[in-house]
Amino acid sequence: MPGFELFGESEKSQVQDVLDSGVLMRYGFDGMRNNHWKALELEAALSKRMESKYAQLVSSGTAALTVALASAGVGAGDEVIMPTFTFVASFESILAIGAIPILVDVDETLTLSPKSVENAITDKTKVVMPVHMCGSMADLGALKTICDKHNLLLLEDACQAIGGSYDDKPLGSYGDIGCFSFDYVKTITCGEGGAIITNNEQYKINADHYSDHGHDHVGNNRGTETHPFLGYNFRISELHAAVGCAQIERLDDFLSIQKKNYTVLRNALSPLSNITFRKVPKGGVENFSFISIFLPTTELAKKAHTALGEAGVDSCFYWFDNNWHYYKKWEHLTHKRSLGKLPQEVVNQLPDYSQSDFSKSDAWIGRTISCLVKLSWTDEQVVERATKMKEVLEKFV
Ligand SMILES: *Cc1c(COP(=O)(O)O)cnc(C)c1O
Repeated sequence: MPGFELFGESEKSQVQDVLDSGVLMRYGFDGMRNNHWKALELEAALSKRMESKYAQLVSSGTAALTVALASAGVGAGDEVIMPTFTFVASFESILAIGAIPILVDVDETLTLSPKSVENAITDKTKVVMPVHMCGSMADLGALKTICDKHNLLLLEDACQAIGGSYDDKPLGSYGDIGCFSFDYVKTITCGEGGAIITNNEQYKINADHYSDHGHDHVGNNRGTETHPFLGYNFRISELHAAVGCAQIERLDDFLSIQKKNYTVLRNALSPLSNITFRKVPKGGVENFSFISIFLPTTELAKKAHTALGEAGVDSCFYWFDNNWHYYKKWEHLTHKRSLGKLPQEVVNQLPDYSQSDFSKSDAWIGRTISCLVKLSWTDEQVVERATKMKEVLEKFV
């Protein structure tokens, strides 16, 4: 997955442009910057590639989720439905604006179960936030039907699945708002960075202002701009955007490398009768950044994961025991361990997750092993890896 594996001349020359002008900030300094507007350029490239009217760059994927929620008017006490299997950024962004993370089961897609989503809706629900984990997507058609029926916002976290598609639409562009991360380990990277895409002009305007202290960005004097509403600083720097300008040009090459490597692994493992592959919803195309499989039982999956590591097959993940990606280890959330006082709405409304039953999620995630698909492998390395994986996995019946 990580785009840093293939850094080259284009990344260097983009960054050098910025250093040569000396303007590291995305706003202002028009005279000095020699016509370099890297953040603007990357926003244009992103909205074109993602077939969305608007893109807003920010400082991280977590910032993108936070700004997206804020831009859509989500606030204190509103409930946001999110999956049990994701990255902690999901509930961090929800809590950051005083809203309530409502955890919901995942199914064999490894993403939100539409049925469980429908059961979790209350009169406080404002948003459904599917997370397209490990390169593949939620059943967006089913989720959209639910959102339309209940008048909810569909916010796609496409941080791990950039370049995948659903119903021929780029992931992130199907719902009302989509979010990407360009952190160091993502398919394309800025070092740190993130983005929102949307077709909603008001959300774009809100995101533009909110991510820069509420600046209205009218005129060319930052000091005299007005601030129609409260904001924050989630800006990206020109240096980070410059790296992204180079990387987005390479996204489709990266995707084809991932697909090629994934296909070798998939073809090698397909004959095994003891494993099945994660379900991709009808109409979906993965970005092939991971290959995810189910073993017959949780016990066998644990053992198989250990055996893969011992056989030298690196970068395979057993999410069930992972501190950052699965609800079981989120005791800081369960026990509301914050530095200062939490908003009263959060204290009152956050469900008691120590009592919750996510056995439906456990039944899938307990059996799941996901292996990263790298960009820098040689053809020989992929074949060798595929052979090793098959030899190890076929023993766990
Ligand atoms: C990486 C990631 C994020 C957060 O991105 P950062 O840029 O690291 O803040 C959010 N959601 C998912 C699913 C991610 O993988």
